Amino acid sequence: MLLLKTMEEVLKKEVRFFKGVGAIKARDLRRLGVETVNDALFAFPFRHDDLSNAIDIEKIKPGQKVTVRGTITVINNHRAKNRRMVITEAIIEDESGSIKAVWFHQGFLTKVLKPGTVVSLAGKVDDRYGLSLVNPVYEVISKNIATKHTGRIVPVYRLAGALTQKVRRLVAEESIKYVGAIEEWLPQEIIDHEKFVEVQEAISQMHFPESLEKASEALERLKFDEFFLHQLLHGKARRELQTQKASMVPFNEVVVKEVVKELPFKLTNAQKKATFAILKDMQREKPMNRLLEGDVGTGKTVVAAVVAINAKASGWQTAILAPTEILADQHAHTLHRMFGDRVTVGIYTRTKRRVGEKEVTKKQMLDALRNGKIDLVVGTHALLSDDVIFNALGLIVVDEQHRFGVKQRKALKDREGDANGIPHLLSMTATPIPRSLALVLYGDLDRSLLNEYPVGRKSINTFLIQENKEDDFYQKMRDEMDKKRQVFVVCPIIEESDALGVNSVNEVYNNFVQGPFADYRLGMLHGKLKTQEKDEIMERFVNGDLDMVISTTVVEVGVDVPNATVMFIEGAERFGLAQLHQLRGRVGRGEFQSFCFLHPSGELSPLAKQRLSALVKSQDGFYLADQDLKLRGPGNIFGTEQSGFEQFKLGSFADIDLISSARDYAKDYLDEDPELDTWPQLKKRLLEYYEEVHFE
Ligand code: ADP
Ligand code: MG
Repeated sequence: MLLLKTMEEVLKKEVRFFKGVGAIKARDLRRLGVETVNDALFAFPFRHDDLSNAIDIEKIKPGQKVTVRGTITVINNHRAKNRRMVITEAIIEDESGSIKAVWFHQGFLTKVLKPGTVVSLAGKVDDRYGLSLVNPVYEVISKNIATKHTGRIVPVYRLAGALTQKVRRLVAEESIKYVGAIEEWLPQEIIDHEKFVEVQEAISQMHFPESLEKASEALERLKFDEFFLHQLLHGKARRELQTQKASMVPFNEVVVKEVVKELPFKLTNAQKKATFAILKDMQREKPMNRLLEGDVGTGKTVVAAVVAINAKASGWQTAILAPTEILADQHAHTLHRMFGDRVTVGIYTRTKRRVGEKEVTKKQMLDALRNGKIDLVVGTHALLSDDVIFNALGLIVVDEQHRFGVKQRKALKDREGDANGIPHLLSMTATPIPRSLALVLYGDLDRSLLNEYPVGRKSINTFLIQENKEDDFYQKMRDEMDKKRQVFVVCPIIEESDALGVNSVNEVYNNFVQGPFADYRLGMLHGKLKTQEKDEIMERFVNGDLDMVISTTVVEVGVDVPNATVMFIEGAERFGLAQLHQLRGRVGRGEFQSFCFLHPSGELSPLAKQRLSALVKSQDGFYLADQDLKLRGPGNIFGTEQSGFEQFKLGSFADIDLISSARDYAKDYLDEDPELDTWPQLKKRLLEYYEEVHFE
């Protein structure tokens, strides 16, 4: 017992006490969620670079994919003929010879790769402009680490603030020393049957793999862990739900018909079908657990509103949870405008409290919810806090469901004071999940699909920008802004120091503000800003006080700016198709013809070209999600941050077989022992996972 306790304590050891990690680095690590040894062990690299087979420069041949190591002797920026694109050229030298490296759109490289820097470059050898590496991935080889990790596979981690790969590797290396304190929690039976590597080995190999095969074995095992835990958690929640009694909300046909008739438009058939299915579900004593899936713009909100009005007719309240304040605010305004005569709409977030259009105090708001004065409340996480009590909550609607953890949903659901039963749950998402995948992920979750757009919706003209053709598109963007339309620009990564070398928000902003869009009002949004600052910029954009907003994917969630007509996506090939499609859905929400411009960050691989062409040709989110699954294949894409599949750190859409197997195991285990007492380690790990999901 004593021993066990010390093992756990070891994992809680804080990384700020490591030699070489000071207060500042500790702060930056904390921003990445790395405070303890345990955090560090599970903060996996997003990529490995194989530096084990660096070849001599003199042996390089055109067409090869190579890694070379050497010293930068010269590095310079110059502008391409069209004046817009920055081209960076460098000479790298090893003992056998030298070669040119060329990067496009990455002017900041001259600050990172100064002459004298020892680097490792990986990329394809081109001979169009003399033998050269075009847009190679680069890695600065720092002297300390170089001696330790030369000629091996190195992990590449996420960075923040002043952190470098060197520091991250040091922290990982130091933490790995304690990996022995991690207990195996996967039942031996599964390990044996699936031929998985043990957990300690998997974690070690994820950070510092001996070979790429070992890395991929480790990844496989750890992905399974994620899927298995996810399936267990959801399986358990589903089972618990089945045993509970729900609020019975009668289907009031008269009221529903009236409301539908009063709408300023005709519901699509898909909307009608979904509404009907939900109304039927809610009539029953069994808690509804339905997913309403519909591409951006298919009109999910109206469906939620109609069922909320039906609930109100028999005295039930509805809560809509939105992922951000802006979105909650938008929903509240829209719903109040459309249905304010029929239902009292409220908003409750950290900073906004209204009943109808009237601003109220927190106390007034809480009272209004408790005594049932508010029929329909829209809110953020604030709605989940303990002091929020409903009079009779009949329905919870979660918009963009993947942003909410299981626990948050439960928080509202388990609320006392609903003696008549727990509320029904409707999740709404615009993330198109391929049918095949939804089946294994959500199997027994009921689904309604809005696979039809309201009539009159124009398709969004999508273009893949060819090399050196940027100017034409910049002109088009200026034309739109001159017509008082607005432009979204989305970039994949913030940090200039990121080894992927993608143009950062800063970089694009600076280029745009000094170059093609000097005469326009530009705003910048990224993860480093405080929520309040983000909201403020977004609000200015929504109000039309900015012509263009340049951001990371924080704008992905359903903000409605009908006046925005251009979505310009920088480094488009870095995103998943599903996500690109969702980003594209940010425009084309108003009456104007809208455009989506895909700007690659460099030369495209044939596969990348195929993926982007699919987007140019199709507007169908489900088709695209399927294509994504096909085209990406089971490749080793670490993490899914860019794919709208956020609940998994390592797993992705492509791992359908693994998901399927995890699901089968989860079902078997829960069937055998729903409490999992037979497998104490597994039970313990699941509890931890539950907390992680909660706090993320
Ligand atoms: P999303 O599914 O992306 O959440 P919204 O609910 O925001 O879509 O709807 C997008 C826009 O389409 C809104 O302005 C809404 O009023 C409008 N809309 C919804 N349904 C219809 C319909 N059947 N006919 C015409 N317009 C509709
Ligand atoms: Mg929406």
